[in-house]
Amino acid sequence: MAKTIQTDALVIGAGAAGLMAAIQLGRQGVTTQLIDHANKPGKKILMSGGGRCNFTNYYVEPTRYLSNNEHFCKSALSRYTQWDFIAMVDQHGIAYHEKTLGQLFCDGKSKAILEMLLTELDDVGVPLQLETDVLSVEKDEQHYSVRTSRGTYKTTHLVIATGGLSIPTMGATGIGYQLAEQFGHRLLERRAGLVPFIFTDHHKAVFSKLSGTSLRVSVSCNQQSFDEDMLFTHRGLSGPSMLQISSYWREGDFIEIDLLPSIDATQWLLEQKRTAPKSGFVKVLSQHWPKSVAEALAQLFELTGMLGETADRHLVSLGEKLNAWRIKPSGTEGYRTAEVTLGGVDTDELSSKTMESKYQPNLYFIGEVVDVTGHLGGFNFQWAWASGYVAAQAISDTLGNTPD
Ligand SMILES: Cc1cc2nc3c(=O)[nH]c(=O)nc-3n(C[C@H](O)[C@H](O)[C@H](O)COP(=O)(O)OP(=O)(O)OC[C@H]3O[C@@H](n4cnc5c(N)ncnc54)[C@H](O)[C@@H]3O)c2cc1C
Repeated sequence: MAKTIQTDALVIGAGAAGLMAAIQLGRQGVTTQLIDHANKPGKKILMSGGGRCNFTNYYVEPTRYLSNNEHFCKSALSRYTQWDFIAMVDQHGIAYHEKTLGQLFCDGKSKAILEMLLTELDDVGVPLQLETDVLSVEKDEQHYSVRTSRGTYKTTHLVIATGGLSIPTMGATGIGYQLAEQFGHRLLERRAGLVPFIFTDHHKAVFSKLSGTSLRVSVSCNQQSFDEDMLFTHRGLSGPSMLQISSYWREGDFIEIDLLPSIDATQWLLEQKRTAPKSGFVKVLSQHWPKSVAEALAQLFELTGMLGETADRHLVSLGEKLNAWRIKPSGTEGYRTAEVTLGGVDTDELSSKTMESKYQPNLYFIGEVVDVTGHLGGFNFQWAWASGYVAAQAISDTLGNTPD
């Protein structure tokens, strides 16, 4: 016979948000169970930040998040800040450094962050049950009954922390969205974010030749700009600047790349024509880029001959392209490699203070399943920590618990 376990809080999903919520619930003395269908917890934490986990950012601001309601994330982010998480990391003696732009990475492996969270979970005595498939969720007057492959959990408070759709091979499923719909919630359009672009036109062959080369650029699309590195890949363009802008890009949009962000390229080319009229384009472009890039740009922009024999209007047009090169990606690599899922559970139907459903008492949505998506740089984990923390706090307050 399948067993039935009674608990005050059940957290589905042992990723970043679910682990934080379970730890905080345990700290507050709430009887809690954490379950996950995967064979290991926190798989995305392990693979994050290139294996060094960019666990937060010194400069967490609401403006670093995309959401249909730009104000929604403010409350949680102000109640559990980057400094709170850094304090936990310090307490566990984990060494870290600021890589760039306030991004904090472990000096060692991401495993240190997961081990820290599992130690905390263990300390507060919250059991974690892995390889547990959720079969159905029902609600009666008092309880949520969550039927799983390992028995039924009867809980007064249910926390959905099942993440988004990115990287299905790491255990991502759409169950959080299905449960939201089951309980009457609206879902906002979901799409892959922080994801490389692919090109199928003539750009592809050129980019592929430069695969592995990185340039500092400024990229813009839909009123957003990012000044970060761009990486050529076999399929198109990646690197921080492209991942960032991909979250703002829509199918069919152009992106605009300033290949010389701090230079007026037209003035520079006209000056080169005056001072070195016998130079060819590859030689001149090589002042700013490796020869392979200069050759590729000369090929893409069909540049031949010497500067001295090129009409000024052609140089003006080339300068404009170097400062504002408009190209149209044919798509993105999609959920297969995306770091995040944009969209999700509509924030208008959740409390921003507690993450509780406005329709179903004692039902909470936290982390990536919610329509709050951070920029690259540790912002997504900070959202997971903060939303998990405030939901746990709210459940504890409802139950009138006192910390252990
Ligand atoms: C390659 C990569 C690198 C990243 N690097 C960074 C980084 O350095 N910094 C940063 O801030 N963000 C990074 N992110 C984003 C970050 O990992 C996510 O935003 C964050 O993990 C979201 O936390 P979450 O708890 O909401 O979801 P997740 O961490 O995805 O956790 C969801 C959990 O739910 C479980 N689950 C799913 N379906 C079910 C089901 N049906 N039944 C039971 N359990 C289920 C999953 O197994 C998983 O354990 C990265 C993402 C990727 C893919």
